[in-house]
Amino acid sequence: MKKRKFTRRTYKYQIREHPKNKRLGNMLDDLCDVPNHFLNLERRYYRIYGKYAGRYRLQPHLTKLLERTRQHWAWIPRDTLDAVIIRLDIAWGRFFDFPNVGRPKFKRKDRYRSAKFQSGYLFEAGRVRLSFKSWDDTTKSLKFNKRWFSFHDHRDWNGNVRYIQILRDAVGTYWLYVVTDDTSKEVLPATGESVGADFGMETYLTLSNSEKIQSPQFLKQSLKTLRQLNKSLSRKVKGSGNWWRAVRQLARLYRHIANQRRDWHFKLATDLCRRFDVIATETLNLAGMKRLWGRKVSDLAFGEFVEILAFKCFKHNREFSEVDQWTPTTKPCSDCGHHNENLTLSDRQWTCPECGSDHDRDINAAINILRAACDPAVEQT
Ligand SMILES: [Zn+2]
Repeated sequence: MKKRKFTRRTYKYQIREHPKNKRLGNMLDDLCDVPNHFLNLERRYYRIYGKYAGRYRLQPHLTKLLERTRQHWAWIPRDTLDAVIIRLDIAWGRFFDFPNVGRPKFKRKDRYRSAKFQSGYLFEAGRVRLSFKSWDDTTKSLKFNKRWFSFHDHRDWNGNVRYIQILRDAVGTYWLYVVTDDTSKEVLPATGESVGADFGMETYLTLSNSEKIQSPQFLKQSLKTLRQLNKSLSRKVKGSGNWWRAVRQLARLYRHIANQRRDWHFKLATDLCRRFDVIATETLNLAGMKRLWGRKVSDLAFGEFVEILAFKCFKHNREFSEVDQWTPTTKPCSDCGHHNENLTLSDRQWTCPECGSDHDRDINAAINILRAACDPAVEQT
């Protein structure tokens, strides 16, 4: 069973539109060169020595670069540059340690999204101050150049700020992520109820109390508009002003769909937490499902929902348990335990040949999931 830890909490704020936000964009564009440069270096190092150079080799190298050939990076705070190297180091480590993790890739400038600030920032009434550097011709050295950016301060954060991140999304909006060490809980009153939940393609979530929850399928809802926008994009001259406008429009629709989905997920998770003390689900084989079902799986976004549900259960002090995917949950009869080996994927309803009880495939699975989660010994019988 995968253990999830919730030691950090991120609060997201929109940075207000302002011409000076261009500075943030310039920073991200310059920052994109850093991982690409070091990735190239790592690849050469690997070809020669058969291992990758860790961050403790790359960081002194960065210092030299900033003095010599890459002086145009020096206006970005050093810990932001270091964070890029650390991220690359982690990516290489994961690539060598896990067989299913791919090699770090070169980044495209328009895909480069975030910068991390561990120090040198200051908050004051809806504004954040970042300290960049600029070249001073009179003293012939870099001097601090502190810039304020205001953001939509719509809520307070709890806990101590660990670091902040500046993000640029595909629409071109800048966001401020405040990452804190908040682990506070809002404990809900106990209800004495437990539930097993089975994810499915036909029904989004089937609960062991025979309740069925359908997904609104937000992507499907917007598919027509999406096609229209794609068509209008393909009619424009690539790189022209109208083309860029169409690209933004499309990105804005995708963002809207993602927001709708996320909102629905949070509401569903809150609802489940209010009603049940124990919530049991099955670990999903997402890669396999994606191969089988394609776009629909992405639209349903089971993985995201499980993450949200796990966090909500932590926050509201509910027990969240995941039954691993090898536990038989579909075939056994939930009344007598008889394994129905003749069951195929298309059988939605079936009758148990042993005890004769009628089953709905998903409800039966949800009951089995709950049983396996409450008593791990059951799965062996
Ligand atoms: Zn039976």
